[in-house]
Amino acid sequence: MGIEEKLPAGFLLSTVEQVAGYMRKSSVWPATFGLACCAIEMMAVGTPDYDIARFGMERFSATPRQADLMIVAGRVSQKMAPVVRQVYDQMPEPKWVISMGVCASSGGMFNNYAIVQGVDHVIPVDIYLPGCPPRPEMLLNAILELHKQIQNTKLGVNRVEAARAAEQAAMAATPTHQMKGLLA
Ligand code: SF4
Repeated sequence: MGIEEKLPAGFLLSTVEQVAGYMRKSSVWPATFGLACCAIEMMAVGTPDYDIARFGMERFSATPRQADLMIVAGRVSQKMAPVVRQVYDQMPEPKWVISMGVCASSGGMFNNYAIVQGVDHVIPVDIYLPGCPPRPEMLLNAILELHKQIQNTKLGVNRVEAARAAEQAAMAATPTHQMKGLLA
């Protein structure tokens, strides 16, 4: 009886992309970064109650150069926006961003000139997490969704094709001012 009989079909034929994705998603290090009240909920995921360590992510990096995940936890003021961008630029590729809470995602209730109306005006966002504040369980769910994205990230020429397809899908999408939701 060989080991082949014990392994699921196709295991040894897994693509390089899948192996790279598995390793990347299992070694994500967040940057130590908090902007407002959402950061308190973010810190809670490091406690034994929520235990982010089970994903190998308990090491919040004190330097962006050793981090590959930015969790934007809280509203982004106009004054803070260049700093957010600088921290993002200092993080090595590949890197990912979770926009945590309604303030970071859209400005939330702070619809005024002092607050950036969505951190995606400053940096690209991979996951938008709703809520005010999102509970730690919601952040863990966002992290699991991000893991799925990382697992399925394309490499090389496949990545170029995926980016082109995403751009075409964005161009063909319904403009937001035409989206009526439940009012349609
Ligand atoms: S979404 Fe709510 S909890 Fe988070 S920063 Fe804004 S006001 Fe604070």
